[in-house]
Amino acid sequence: MTTAAYDPNNIFAKILKGEIPSVKLYEDDHTLAFMDVMPQAPGHLLVIPKTGSRNMLDADPAVLAKLIPVVQKMAVAAKEAFEADGIYIAQFNEPAAGQTVFHLHFHVIPRHEGQPLKPHTGGMESIDVLKANAEKIKAAMDE
Ligand code: 5GP
Repeated sequence: MTTAAYDPNNIFAKILKGEIPSVKLYEDDHTLAFMDVMPQAPGHLLVIPKTGSRNMLDADPAVLAKLIPVVQKMAVAAKEAFEADGIYIAQFNEPAAGQTVFHLHFHVIPRHEGQPLKPHTGGMESIDVLKANAEKIKAAMDE
C-alpha cells in the first residue's frame, strides 16, 4: 500500500508557521514542544521537528537525532513538574496505528499509579489549565 505525501498545511505545520496558536514549552532551531489541547492526563505535551515528515516512516534520521534529546528533556521535566510515577512516550504512524495529525510528533504524558489515561483525542482542555500546566513544566526545565 502506498502512503500519502507530507501535507505542509497540516495543523502542526500551521503551529510552526504561527498561523494557529499553541501553548509553547520549548523551542530551538530544530524542535518545538507544546501542550496537547486534548490531554490524556495533566501535562500531556507534544514534541515535533521543524522539518516536515508525516511520521517516523519517512523522517530523516538526522532529524530524529536532534529530536530525541528534546523528547528526553521534556519527559524529565514533565515527570518532575507533575511528580509523576512514570512517563508514557507514544508515537503513532498512519491511521491504522492511531495517527490523526500527519506531522511527526511524540506524545509525552505523565502517569500516576492507578490513574487511567483519558481517551486519545478526547475532550479539549481550557487554555488557562494548559497555560498553568505549561508553567509547571517550564519551571521544572529551569531547575
Ligand atoms: P496523533 O493521533 O496524531 O498521534 O495525535 C495528535 C495529537 O494532537 C492528539 O493528542 C490531539 O489532541 C493533538 N492535537 C490535535 N489538534 C491540535 C491542535 O490544534 N493543537 C494542539 N496543541 N494539539 C492538537
